[in-house]
Amino acid sequence: MQNQILKLKNEKKAIIIAHYYQDPKIQDIADYVGDSLGMAVFAKKTDAPIAVVCGVKFMAETIKVMNPHKKILLPDPDAGCSLADSCTPAIFNYFKSKYPGAFVMTYVNSSLEIKALSDVIVTSANAVKIAQQMPKDQKIIFGPDQHLGRYVSKQAGRELILFPGNCFVHTSFSAKAMYEIKKQHPEAALIAHPECEDVILSQADFVGSTGQMLCFTQESEYKTFIVMTEAGIMHQMKKNSPNKEFIMGPDLSGCSCNECPHMKLNTLEKIHACLFAETPEVNIAPDLAEKALVPINRMMEMT
Ligand code: SF4
Repeated sequence: MQNQILKLKNEKKAIIIAHYYQDPKIQDIADYVGDSLGMAVFAKKTDAPIAVVCGVKFMAETIKVMNPHKKILLPDPDAGCSLADSCTPAIFNYFKSKYPGAFVMTYVNSSLEIKALSDVIVTSANAVKIAQQMPKDQKIIFGPDQHLGRYVSKQAGRELILFPGNCFVHTSFSAKAMYEIKKQHPEAALIAHPECEDVILSQADFVGSTGQMLCFTQESEYKTFIVMTEAGIMHQMKKNSPNKEFIMGPDLSGCSCNECPHMKLNTLEKIHACLFAETPEVNIAPDLAEKALVPINRMMEMT
């Protein structure tokens, strides 16, 4: 199936862009593997007329807005994100209405409608840098992930008004089991994504976005890592540092297999079918795309 996809991809001059949380078999046939912003920026740099986005809906939508002339395909149209879906425009507008005059800083893991209601979009890699640039007396709303917001607030030394959303994948790590694994591997570095709860982050030797975590495992002198994010990232970590050991962080069920079911909806079969039929395609209403692009472009300017 991988060979058939690669043949079809070459015939159609298409590209496959995958998120770090995809199945390793998908990552291995991708032209680019990275985080959501990296995926959009990579698509922008290529002339390919078609991009298959192996990730979730908000990623495909962001890529479409930043690449309006490309045909953007999402292998499974049901690949949503419960964090993004939990923050609806009605709820977000109500939340905003309680803080008149607040600047709205929104995580890229949100729908286009929420992006369109925001002043700037941030990623887990650039949120601290952007928060630090805001005037000290400016009220700032941060949404939809409260844990990332709390981390950004501490790092940037800025008070943020946190929308109460969270990612169930990153909040399902067990602190109790994490302490046990740390005791068993005192030589290991605990690395965590800032969508994890504070009880996890406060024990981490390194906190960063998926791309930053990957760099840390390559560049640091540690030989063993306890990884507190979605299991898919382990594939690139093992590939890039074959002589190092990676231990997946334990979740509340006691299992070290913390996977995002939305991300894992994509399969090789669905990728082949969508590339063959060039559907389902992501299309965005022009006025929504125009409104959502404003805070995305502001993020690019501020970073
Ligand atoms: S890992 Fe969390 S934030 Fe990312 S797509 Fe899955 S539910 Fe959404």
